[in-house]
Amino acid sequence: MKSDIKLIDKEGKRLDGRKRDELRPIKIEVGPLYRADGSCYIEWGGNKILAAVYGPREALPRHIQHPLRAVVNARYNMASFSVEDRKRPGPDRRSTEISKVISEALEYVILTEQFPRAMIDINIEVLDAEAGTRCAGLTAAAVALADAGIPMRDIPVACAAGKIDGQVVLDLGKEEDNFGEADLPVAIAPRTDEIILLQMDGHLTVKEFDEAIELAIKGAHVVSELQKKALLAKYAVAKEVKQ
Ligand code: ADP
Repeated sequence: MKSDIKLIDKEGKRLDGRKRDELRPIKIEVGPLYRADGSCYIEWGGNKILAAVYGPREALPRHIQHPLRAVVNARYNMASFSVEDRKRPGPDRRSTEISKVISEALEYVILTEQFPRAMIDINIEVLDAEAGTRCAGLTAAAVALADAGIPMRDIPVACAAGKIDGQVVLDLGKEEDNFGEADLPVAIAPRTDEIILLQMDGHLTVKEFDEAIELAIKGAHVVSELQKKALLAKYAVAKEVKQ
């Protein structure tokens, strides 16, 4: 959406003071939920999101079972109090779409063939939303999967880039998402840089598109280090206690 609102000032600073290639502050906590097999709480800018993993367990009802691999079922949900105007509770087109793309991205890295006829449920609950929730949700879900001990080829991670005031920038905030020209969420398997989720809202030239992908992947690598640090913070302590 085009608008007259200035999103980048004369010094190149964005509305929240960030530079073009700067992420919002991110905090990741591993295992906050007692009953889930794996869980993660993430704060990413103004987003607050919980991810909980259950499984692998027998897929029921039986007709959803796959004889050769596990079924991965991610469910993205936004709490009605997570946005400014109360959101109507329950699934809608947007949450169905986000659940689908996140399920497919995570299924790609999980070693599903190790669990025939099983299902892995991933619940992503957005408690506070401030743009970029699908990236933050996927990032939290990946940590929750690792916390559940589910074997994966890599720990996936996501980050968006976009275009505001004619410039390609990293990790759009709420106003930037509302009044900017494009948003490009990207998820990768960071060891190989394989892209496992790519969506685009708005318009970019081919050159801007390449620039945005490169910037999003760079940002995703920074987030990937935070994921690993959070997992080590939990499991390094657990190992020490055991010895
Ligand atoms: P993402 O959260 O992945 O960026 P969108 O681009 O669809 O996904 O949404 C951008 C932001 O718009 C969300 O993070 C949220 O802050 C806001 N938003 C989304 N859906 C609603 C809604 N139904 N009501 C109010 N705000 C919403």
